[in-house]
Amino acid sequence: MTGLRFSIPRYWRERQTYYRLKAAKCLDCGRVVYPYNDRCRLCGSTRVEEVELLNERAVLLTYTVIYSAAEGFEDKRPVVIGIVETTESKARLLTRITDVDVSELKTGMLLEPVLRRVNEDGESGLIYYLVSYRPVVK
Ligand SMILES: [Zn+2]
Repeated sequence: MTGLRFSIPRYWRERQTYYRLKAAKCLDCGRVVYPYNDRCRLCGSTRVEEVELLNERAVLLTYTVIYSAAEGFEDKRPVVIGIVETTESKARLLTRITDVDVSELKTGMLLEPVLRRVNEDGESGLIYYLVSYRPVVK
C-alpha cells in the first residue's frame, strides 16, 4: 500500500476533507462515501449531500502493518493502516490506526477518530495533521 505522500498545495486544497472527514451521502442509493465527491462513486448520482464523519466511531475491517516506514515517518514505526467502517453512516475510510499495540490489533475492534500530527515540513514550517483512529478505551 502506498500513498502516504504529501504535497503542500494538495494538502492545503484538501485540508477540509482531511480535518473534517467530509463525506458524501447519496440521496439516491443512500450510501455514504469518503472523501466527498459531487458524484456518487457507486451509482453515479449527482444528488449528494455533505456529511461529517468525525462524530462517529468506527469498526476496524482490515489492516496492514508497515514496518519499513516512508521517509519522514522513521520515528513512527510501525505504521498501521486500516480500513474502517463508521458505525452510523457505514462509510469506509482508509486511515491510520494510532495508539495501539500491534499485538492488540483485531478486526472488529471499536475505534474513534483523533486528530494527530503526522509530519513537519522543515522548509515551510508547515505541520501536517491527519485524522487517525485509535481504539476506544473502555
Ligand atoms: Zn449513489
